[in-house]
Amino acid sequence: MNQISRRGLCLVLSAPSGAGKSSVSRALLEREPDLRLSVSATTRQPRPGEVEGVHYFFREREEFQRMIAAGELIEHAEVFGRFYGTPRMAVERALAAGRDVLFDIDWQGHLLLRQALPGDVVGVFLLPPDLAELERRLHGRGQDSAEEIARRMAAARDEISHYGDFDNVLVNHDFHRTVEEVRAILHAGRTARLRQPWLPEFVSGLLGQ
Ligand code: GDP
Ligand code: ADP
Ligand code: 5GP
Repeated sequence: MNQISRRGLCLVLSAPSGAGKSSVSRALLEREPDLRLSVSATTRQPRPGEVEGVHYFFREREEFQRMIAAGELIEHAEVFGRFYGTPRMAVERALAAGRDVLFDIDWQGHLLLRQALPGDVVGVFLLPPDLAELERRLHGRGQDSAEEIARRMAAARDEISHYGDFDNVLVNHDFHRTVEEVRAILHAGRTARLRQPWLPEFVSGLLGQ
């Protein structure tokens, strides 16, 4: 029996901006040593403290278009007027090596990823307790201008309307509880039968004893 041959899964976290994706992602990565973050490419400007290759690969529009044309992105989408996309190579390598990959991508990215990697995607959508709280969190984060916050609040209703595309939906009331619930979803996804290709052989062995 070779349990290492489990194929990795894609854990997608989506939410309206400010609902807690980045904070929940950070906490998950600290607690789950076999989970890697997919670092997206984007044409938006880095925020203070964001590091090239850690938070995003920051690219000019022309370079981003080249990456699309060359097939280097598994999926890409326009979000808030800027481009975001998932580099293909790192994800395919991790999955083949049996490691799970965390994605902080929008609802469009989730649908495209599901098409690109059928059977490999476990989707989780985070909802804010209410819209006033969402706006408080965006202000509290202190990273976006008033204009940018208004833009994100305006997009939030549309974003929320896509919750039905996701297998799992959580209301992010209590941060620690949300993190534990997402961990439980990850752990359950790992035991899915189709992600353990060694099972038929193992079961034949069991029955042959
Ligand atoms: P946040 O909303 O505060 O997390 O702000 P970000 O600038 O980090 O993310 C902006 C949006 O782009 C979010 O909806 C992300 O989920 C989405 N996003 C980030 N990376 C990707 C990606 O690789 N693909 C897709 N489709 N969406 C992404
Ligand atoms: P996103 O990545 O979805 O835009 P963030 O993770 O940056 O959201 O969260 C936005 C702000 O809300 C951050 O300041 C974060 O600390 C705060 N936050 C996240 N989850 C909770 C929660 N359950 N309760 C209160 N504040 C939260
Ligand atoms: P932010 O500019 O706040 O970092 O991200 C804005 C939105 O873009 C977020 O909702 C985030 O999930 C989404 N996003 C980030 N990276 C990607 C990506 O690679 N692909 C897609 N489709 N969306 C992304």
